[in-house]
Amino acid sequence: MTATAGYYLLPAGTVLASMTYNTIGLIFGLLILVAVRWHRPARPWAWILFGTGMILSVVGDFTWWYLEHIRQEEPYPSVADVFYLASYPPLIAGLFLLQRNRGRDLGGLIDAAMVATGLGLVLWVFVLHPVAAVDAASMLERAVSTAYPSLDALLLAMVARLLIDRRVRTPSTDLLGMAAVLLLVADVAFSVASLYFDYEGRAMDWGWLLAYVLWAAAALHPSMAADTPVVSGPGRVSRGRLVILGLCSVLAPVLLVIPSVGADTVDRVVIAAGAAVLFVLGVARMAVVMAKVRGQAVELERLANQDDLTGLHNRRHFYRALGEALVGSRPQVVLLGLNRLRAINDELGHLAGDDVIVQIADRIRALAGPDALVARLSGDEFAVLVRDAPEGGADAVAGLLAGAVHDPVDTRGYEVLVGAGIGVAGGADAAGPAEVLRRAGVAMFAAKQSGEPYRRWAPGLDERSVEEARLGAQIRHALAERQFQVVYQPIVVMPEQRVAAVEALVRWHHPRLGTVSPAQFIPVAERNGLIVELGAWILQTACEQLVRWTVELGPDAPDRVSVNVSARQLARPGFAGTVADVLARTGLPAYRLTVEVTETAVFDGGPAVTALHELRALGVRIALDDFGTGHSSLGLLQNVPVDILKIDKSFVDRITEAGRHAVIAEAMIQVSNGLGLDAVAEGVETAEQAQALTRLGYRLLQGYHFGRPAAEPEFARIRVARGLTVPGAAALS
Ligand code: C2E
Ligand code: CA
Ligand code: CA
Repeated sequence: MTATAGYYLLPAGTVLASMTYNTIGLIFGLLILVAVRWHRPARPWAWILFGTGMILSVVGDFTWWYLEHIRQEEPYPSVADVFYLASYPPLIAGLFLLQRNRGRDLGGLIDAAMVATGLGLVLWVFVLHPVAAVDAASMLERAVSTAYPSLDALLLAMVARLLIDRRVRTPSTDLLGMAAVLLLVADVAFSVASLYFDYEGRAMDWGWLLAYVLWAAAALHPSMAADTPVVSGPGRVSRGRLVILGLCSVLAPVLLVIPSVGADTVDRVVIAAGAAVLFVLGVARMAVVMAKVRGQAVELERLANQDDLTGLHNRRHFYRALGEALVGSRPQVVLLGLNRLRAINDELGHLAGDDVIVQIADRIRALAGPDALVARLSGDEFAVLVRDAPEGGADAVAGLLAGAVHDPVDTRGYEVLVGAGIGVAGGADAAGPAEVLRRAGVAMFAAKQSGEPYRRWAPGLDERSVEEARLGAQIRHALAERQFQVVYQPIVVMPEQRVAAVEALVRWHHPRLGTVSPAQFIPVAERNGLIVELGAWILQTACEQLVRWTVELGPDAPDRVSVNVSARQLARPGFAGTVADVLARTGLPAYRLTVEVTETAVFDGGPAVTALHELRALGVRIALDDFGTGHSSLGLLQNVPVDILKIDKSFVDRITEAGRHAVIAEAMIQVSNGLGLDAVAEGVETAEQAQALTRLGYRLLQGYHFGRPAAEPEFARIRVARGLTVPGAAALS
C-alpha cells in the first residue's frame, strides 16, 4: 500500500515512476510464488498461475515503457499487448482451478454464466461495440482493444463464480475477488476513458497496482492454504445471489430503453441474443433447482423409511408396505423380538448392544431372501414381510430365523446368547396392518413364554392374553384380600422315609374360581412383577411355619423348608437382603432354609447369580429345580453355587421302564455324588418308582407317593408307614 501511495508522489512519466511501478508489480508477483512455498496450499497450481499472470503483466508494462521512452515508438498496439493479453489466461485458468471439484455445483456455474452474460452485454454495448466501430482505428488496434474486454468478460465469469457462492468464501478468496474486480474496473475504465475521452493518462494505474497488492495479499493470507471445501449437498441460494441474478436477467430490456442503444440494429441483435441466452440459462437454472429439490425429496424419503443403525426399513415403511400388500394378496408377517437385549446393554454397554442388533439384522436379511421385506420395528423387534407365499410359507422363514438367532453372537470378545421369540400372523382372514402386527405380537409373546422356536397366531392366543390381563388384576386383589395360602410337600430320606424337609408351594383360593394352580398364576405374576410381593409373603410365611413346627413338634418337625424363588425375584437388587431380614424376623437359622431356583433363572448369569452367592454367604442352601429340563449345562454348576439338584419329574416318570430315562437318572445321581451335591427326585408317584430310584442311589425323594402338598402334612404318619411294603401314600393326603 505504501509503495502504491508512494508511486503517486513521484513525478508523472519519469523513468523512476515507471520503474517503481514495475518493481512493485514484480515484487508482488514474486510474493505470490513465495507464498505457495510458504503456505503449501491445497491447489498450488492456481497460485502459481496467478503469480505467472502478474509477472507477465509486469513484463508487458516494462515493454510498454521501453517502447515509449527508449524506442520512442507508439506502444499501442504493440508487443506489450502480447504480454498483457498473455497475462489473462493464467489468471482465468487459476481462478478456474481454484474452484474446480466444488461438488459439481452446476447451479453455481449457471449463475456465474448469467452474471457474465448480463455484464458482457453491458460491456458489448458500451465498450466492445463502440471500440469496434471506431473508424480511425486499424484492424489490429480494434482487435486488441476488443480482446481486452472479452478476456475481462471471461475473468468476470470466474470472479462471479468465486464470489457468488458464499459457502466457499475465505478471507483469501475475498481478497482475490476484490483484486479481480479491481482489475476489471481498471480495464473497463481505461477502455472507456481512452475511447470516449481520448485519455492517455495514468489514473487507471492505481487500479492495476492495487489489484496486484490485493492479489498478493490473497496469496499471503494464511486462509489461502485451506482448500475450498468440497460441497456436495445442494447449496442454499442466498438472497444476495437472487438479487444479482434478477438484475442480470433484466439487463437486456433495460439496455434497450437507452435511446442510443435501442436505435442501433447490431446492438439490438446482440441484446436479443443475450436475452435469449439469459432466458435459456434461467430455465436451466430452474431445472437444476428442481433436480436438487427432487434429490432432496428422495433423500428425505429414504431417511424417513430407514432404520439408521441397521439400514433396514423402519416401522413406518413396513406398516405401509404391509398395508399395500394386504390389498389383493395374503401377506404374512414374521415378527421377531430379542430376549436379552436389555441385559446385554446393561452388562456390556450400548455399543455391544448395537453391535448385536446389527449382526442379528444381517442374519435376518440373509435368511429372509431377496423378495422379503425386512424391517426393524423398534429397539429389539424385527419383522419380515412375506409376500405372495402359500399359507404357512412364513413358517419356513420363522423356522430359519429361530435357528439363526439361537446361535451365539460374537461381540467385543464375548459370545452372547440373545435368544428371541418369534410370532407369525397373516394369511386368509388378515385384517388391516395394525391387526396383523398385533396378532404377530401376541404370537411372539406366546412363543417367548413357552420357549417354542416360533408360534403362529390363532384366535385362542388372544383369549389367553385377555385372560392374562384379567388374572393380573385379580392377583393384585387377592394379595390384599389374603386369598393365598402356602402348603407343604414332604421330602423324605430313603430308606427310612423320614421327612427331612418340606417344599413350600403356594395356593390361591379364589372365591369364585376355587383353587387356582400356581402353574397358572405364577407365570402371570412373574411377568407383571407381582411375584416380588407375593414371593416375599411366601418366604415369610414358610419360615414362620417351620419355626412354629419346631416349637410344636420338636424332633418330628422337618429340618428344612424349601422355597421356590422365581427369576424375577432373584434378579431384583437386594433380594439377599430381603431373605436376611425374613430370617432375622422369624428367627429361623439360615441353614434351615433352601431356595429353589430353575436353571433358566440363572443361566443368563448377571444379578441372579450374584444374588445366589450372597444367599450362600448367608448360609442359605440352594437347590437347582427341574434339573435336566432346561439348558442342562454342567458348566453352569461351576459358576453357580448349588447344594441340591432336583431331578425333574419327567425322568422319574419312566424310571421303571428300561430306556434312556433310567440311564439319564442314573447318570445324574452319579454327577451329583461326584460333585458332592444332594439329589432330590421329584414327582415320585409309585412305590416301584421309589424302589427303582433308591436302587440307583437316590436318598431324597418327593412326590404324591409320600405325600401331597398340604397345609399341615402328617409327618408322623409317614414315619409310621416306614417298612410297609405298600405305603399307600395317596391315602395320606
Ligand atoms: P415345582 O417347583 O416343580 O413344584 C413341584 C410341583 O409338582 C408342585 O406343583 C407339586 O404339587 C407337584 N407335584 C409334587 N409331587 C407330585 C407328584 O407325585 N405327581 C405330580 N403330578 N405332581 C407332583 P404345584 O404346587 O402346582 O406347583 C407348580 C409349580 O408352580 C412349581 O413347580 C413351581 O414352579 C411353581 N410354584 C409353586 N409354588 C410356588 C411359590 O411359592 N413360589 C414360586 N415362585 N413358584 C411356585
Ligand atoms: Ca420347586
Ligand atoms: Ca420341580
